[in-house]
Amino acid sequence: MNAIHERLEVQEIPEPARKLAVKAMGIDSHIDTIQRVLVMGEDLGKRWDVGHVDIPRLRAGGTHAPFFALWVPVYFSGAEAVRRTLDLRDAMQSVLDAHKDQIELATTAADIKRIVKAHKIAVFLTVEGGHTIDDDLRVLRMYYQLGIRSMTLTHSRNNNWADASTDIPEHNGLTDFGKEVVREMNRLGMLVDLSHVSDKTFYDALAVTTKPVIVSHSSMRALSNVPRNVTDEMLWALAKNGGVIGINFGEGFVNPSDAEALRSDIKTETSDSSLTGRALDDHAAEDVRKLFGTRVKVAATVDDVADHIDHAVKIAGIDHVGIGSDFDGISGPPNGLDDVSKMPALIAVLLKRGYGKRDLKKILGENFLRVIREVTGK
Ligand SMILES: [Zn+2]
Repeated sequence: MNAIHERLEVQEIPEPARKLAVKAMGIDSHIDTIQRVLVMGEDLGKRWDVGHVDIPRLRAGGTHAPFFALWVPVYFSGAEAVRRTLDLRDAMQSVLDAHKDQIELATTAADIKRIVKAHKIAVFLTVEGGHTIDDDLRVLRMYYQLGIRSMTLTHSRNNNWADASTDIPEHNGLTDFGKEVVREMNRLGMLVDLSHVSDKTFYDALAVTTKPVIVSHSSMRALSNVPRNVTDEMLWALAKNGGVIGINFGEGFVNPSDAEALRSDIKTETSDSSLTGRALDDHAAEDVRKLFGTRVKVAATVDDVADHIDHAVKIAGIDHVGIGSDFDGISGPPNGLDDVSKMPALIAVLLKRGYGKRDLKKILGENFLRVIREVTGK
């Protein structure tokens, strides 16, 4: 089956796009794949029909250095959130150990270049949701020791020190401790990720940080008006900071008619924090299985994603735009961009729209590589 599949891919995508996918440094600043390993025990060394990412499909699409997110749902709180982060980090380690010849942990831009040159996938580790540090900078510092080099300040709900974009504001942005978190991340050499935060938190973090920030998986509010996307004003501020936004491929992020469904999804999300231990893990496992069991029909297309890239480039400039697909965290990838192996289809559209190879390489990974180098120091 796989051989037929590969041949079909080769036939569908024009040669220049496939070549560029292989040659360019492909970085994706947000994938949620590791939950499939933790919950379903899937071997990422095999090519799967479910989900959007595994090692063979990363190779097929030219995504050489994905940011593997340790995503902890907001109903894990306090010490439970720390435990979940460690569980996900352990699942990641099992992948690194099982496939040493194919995949390796990277903590700097130099690491990424070395690992990709050796024809391996470079894993850049991020934590999704500042609630995972349990309001304790010591926990943050230990995450750094575990090779984690980036963190979104919030997930979908406010935490004790930062407001989220999909919650009712309670701190007016970042609290004093939240500002301390940003300073400590700067000092350690961790990327401050402003996807998921409220607009006020975004500007508060930019006022504090001394390093470029990232917005790892958000799209354009001017094209799809959801709070998880960014405004043009935010893009200007991001460009001034020297940061990069990774365009999210999620259906509601890129297509306004799919956005309504995303909005109602946000409203129905529950955060039952009375569960602990095994019961909490079972609840989370159920959620993960539900996500991968549902195939959503979407209106979004590859062209929608290209429109968001166009808009971001127009407003922020070519040096501040990248790819942050959110694969394995979204229920409905756009038609024609069904999983990470289809990245050359997006490259083909962008080539057709007149992007030069040098500019495309920036979008596909070099911009993120620059920010990683500036923040980690190597
Ligand atoms: Zn997310």
